[in-house]
Amino acid sequence: MKSNDNSSPNTERDLIQITEGTPAFDGDGVRLTRLIGGSDLPLVDPFLLLDCFSSDDPKDYIRGFPNHPHRGFETVTYMLAGRMHHKDSTGHEDVIGPGDVQWMTAGRGIVHSELPEQSEGLMKGFQLWVNLPAREKMTAPTYRALRDTQIPVELLKHGGSIKVISGTTDAGTVGPIQIETVTPTFFDVSLGMDEVFTQKISTSHLGFIYVIEGHVVAGPQAKELSKGSLGVLGPGDHVFLKSRASDTRLLLVAGRKIGEPIARHGPFVMNTQEEIRQAILDFQAGRF
Ligand code: MN
Repeated sequence: MKSNDNSSPNTERDLIQITEGTPAFDGDGVRLTRLIGGSDLPLVDPFLLLDCFSSDDPKDYIRGFPNHPHRGFETVTYMLAGRMHHKDSTGHEDVIGPGDVQWMTAGRGIVHSELPEQSEGLMKGFQLWVNLPAREKMTAPTYRALRDTQIPVELLKHGGSIKVISGTTDAGTVGPIQIETVTPTFFDVSLGMDEVFTQKISTSHLGFIYVIEGHVVAGPQAKELSKGSLGVLGPGDHVFLKSRASDTRLLLVAGRKIGEPIARHGPFVMNTQEEIRQAILDFQAGRF
């Protein structure tokens, strides 16, 4: 067997690109860091975008994300600190707080607003865009919110833990969000000093590690990944990493590659330019 055969079993995934993202503004002047979806890392198929917002200065978040449309994909919001008020055109209205997850399928079209439910204090969290395959882009929009307490946490034997939002851990803990097409893994992992974490990730999946706190070394070359950095996973069938700080926390996110053409225009992500033109016409005509 060739040693460089990426499909061979028992291969540990390397980190093939490391980025700290680029500063950006979105919504009505919300300051954020764009980790996926910017020029240095446009896509980790099926993930179209990953933004991290983190500020205790209300000027950076207070005007939030007023009414705006989406079509063709899913938006996932994961709050670490602060509270966000969501309202959408399907009639869902909700406030998500620390540890909560909102998994919204925009499908054929939704208009929503995401506004801070606070005027001061820390607002920190993530927004991840998960693409839909062509056959599901025009599906009916749906909204799901998970409270922190509804999300299982698996305790590791050396003191760490895995909060399992989606996917299945090697020990068998199953997350509440299940998406058939991209079968996502979405874990929030906490580790102590020198603690090891391993997880099978199907060879058909692409994904990344983002370090929220602390510092890890990952992959066969023990590449360093520190706080605020995202490492894109290379080919292989599992992740192996070791914490190098006493309070390390990271996201592990992966999903099955869709591999279709992508046409994107702001809040619309379709397969062709013609479908983008149609999305704009449908939104302007009030059909969302
Ligand atoms: Mn949105």
